Amino acid sequence: MVRVTERVFLLEAPRFQFPYCNCLLVRDERTCLLDCAMTPLQGEELSRQHLDLVLLTHGHVDHVHRPSRFPAPKYLHPADYDWVESAGSFLRAFGFDREGYQDIGRLFMRAGGWEAMEPAGPLSEGQVIDLGCTRIQVLHLPGHTAGHCGFLLLDEGILFSSDIDLTSFGPFYGNATSDLDAFIASLDRLIAHPPEAVITGHGEGLVTRDVKARLEGYRDIIFQREEALLAALAQLGAATPAQLAARKTIYRRRSDSYQQLFDLLELLMDEQHLRRLERSGRVERDGELYRVR
Ligand SMILES: [Zn+2]
Repeated sequence: MVRVTERVFLLEAPRFQFPYCNCLLVRDERTCLLDCAMTPLQGEELSRQHLDLVLLTHGHVDHVHRPSRFPAPKYLHPADYDWVESAGSFLRAFGFDREGYQDIGRLFMRAGGWEAMEPAGPLSEGQVIDLGCTRIQVLHLPGHTAGHCGFLLLDEGILFSSDIDLTSFGPFYGNATSDLDAFIASLDRLIAHPPEAVITGHGEGLVTRDVKARLEGYRDIIFQREEALLAALAQLGAATPAQLAARKTIYRRRSDSYQQLFDLLELLMDEQHLRRLERSGRVERDGELYRVR
């Protein structure tokens, strides 16, 4: 555990190891855990101490991993309840209900330590959770998932930004319930009012330098992907989303063991871009076929 401030501790995840994320522990008059996807060893250590509440940034299994380890009440934005309600609602929220992807979906849930969970209550934009000396403000930052939130340590100026994670894997908006325009709007909101520091859900953790520029660079990856997809579509002439996805424009380097998973993610991400490009008039659609205008 790494001490970030007098009362805030970072439980660092092993880098890019699924299904773990960086979690925060706030030891104050009330003890609060932010996200609960730590390793078994970290979880064991934590389960020996009293927790008053758990705040969850969103419903993905690498943030809500084996939540039954912690009996404390857990809070989540209601737009992400789908992810924890039932196996069926999880599969639909991800996009695993598409033809041919149910088996990999169930494997993914097992690997991720998915469990149904009943939230104790909702989190909402602007809500402030007072732990004694520490105040945490909920920022609803949708796009990655519909209910994705960041947690701002109000007096410290540090944002726990979760899967606005500033890694080279992201930005990720490859679920059936992701929303690319909302993701860009969430990033623009943070760029307009950048926090003093960020703690990411994956990757480097505490980022104290060039926060605004890092957020801009992260957002611009989306626009670079869009240009690459446009170029691929121009080469194809006209293509269905599946034909475009076969070009693997976003996920070129992918792990063989999860190839089918990455096929689905590429398709869902490409579809998000195609819809956005159609709205902005840069591509046109004729039935299933898209072409550059
Ligand atoms: Zn996530």
